[in-house]
Amino acid sequence: MSDATLFTRIINREIPAVILYEDDLCIVINDIAPQAPVHMLVIPKQVIPRLADASSEDQSILGHLMWVAAEVARDAGVDEAFRLVVNNGEGAGQTVFHLHLHVLAGSSGSPMFSEADIG
Ligand code: AMP
Repeated sequence: MSDATLFTRIINREIPAVILYEDDLCIVINDIAPQAPVHMLVIPKQVIPRLADASSEDQSILGHLMWVAAEVARDAGVDEAFRLVVNNGEGAGQTVFHLHLHVLAGSSGSPMFSEADIG
């Protein structure tokens, strides 16, 4: 079996996904199990397992991911109200160890955190 991460396999078109945006540095897909009416994942092509694994050299890709998140939020018509979530580590609910930003929108009035969010 390949050692490639799930998201690298999506980037390489080995696993299907709804691809909303792609450039040289990242891809944006719809989350397969959406937690909100709009739930997109912004994923760097470079594999950084967790945000805490990013190095000083990764600062520009980290900034790019946030810029792309705002772009795709605008394309989805939700740029007035969206959230970015990064789960860092198993204890915070991270299940895919290839950095990704969740872009969530469309469910208004929910609290910032529920008890289930932070263990
Ligand atoms: P996290 O729990 O922060 O690591 O987020 C991983 C996300 O990847 C979850 O929200 C999953 O629903 C999502 N996911 C898992 N497999 C796929 C897939 N094949 N296509 C799109 N999203 C996926």
